[in-house]
Amino acid sequence: MNARLALEQQITTCKGCPRLRRHCAEVAKEKRAAFRDQHYWGKPIPPFGPNTAKLLVMGLAPGAHGANRTGRVFTGDRSGDWLYRALHRAGFASQPQSTGANDGLVLRKAVISCIVKCAPPQNKPTTMEIKRCTERFASQELRLFQSTRVYVALGGLAWNSLWTLLGQPSPRARFSHGKEVRLHLANPDGPHRYLIGSYHPSQQNTFTGRLTETMFDSIFERARKLLRS
Ligand code: SF4
Repeated sequence: MNARLALEQQITTCKGCPRLRRHCAEVAKEKRAAFRDQHYWGKPIPPFGPNTAKLLVMGLAPGAHGANRTGRVFTGDRSGDWLYRALHRAGFASQPQSTGANDGLVLRKAVISCIVKCAPPQNKPTTMEIKRCTERFASQELRLFQSTRVYVALGGLAWNSLWTLLGQPSPRARFSHGKEVRLHLANPDGPHRYLIGSYHPSQQNTFTGRLTETMFDSIFERARKLLRS
């Protein structure tokens, strides 16, 4: 079995956080009324995108009725609608909508993942759940997606986790929307790599106008520019 398949199998069968596994299973059983006739995935969510991706977008955790329903990261809820539209406008996604695992969408040079693979109650994983999941899986993902040159962290928790996983020095740079850091690398002669911060496209941010589509587009335009440089 190749490394990607092995990782996906480890993720989808993980039972490391009983609270999260219980929550995902309960949501999958109870369902939202609008999705009553659908089968919910109800398992941890692996990353989506090619191993050769140059851009890695890291979110916090799957949505209970989004990815936990469809089985694809950021798919089937409003946050995902925002993310895939922006990726499509920037040329990283073949289509602007991501509705289900078999909708034909292809990511170009981009991969999307979450630091926590199971949908948490109230979208709030505990510190221990974040630590456990990143140590088990996000660290493996960063090694697997070794062509990545630009990391986009959606929100402060993803920023903090990536900072640690990418072995960056203390003190950690403070997260803000549009914050860009050139990463310190073990091999200084290799290609430059960057971490960019973005507000998460959660409804909390998009409904309040804290994050606009123009602001979100600027993140992926910048990523595109850095990849061309
Ligand atoms: S959050 Fe991560 S470590 Fe915890 S059960 Fe889900 S996949 Fe496993």
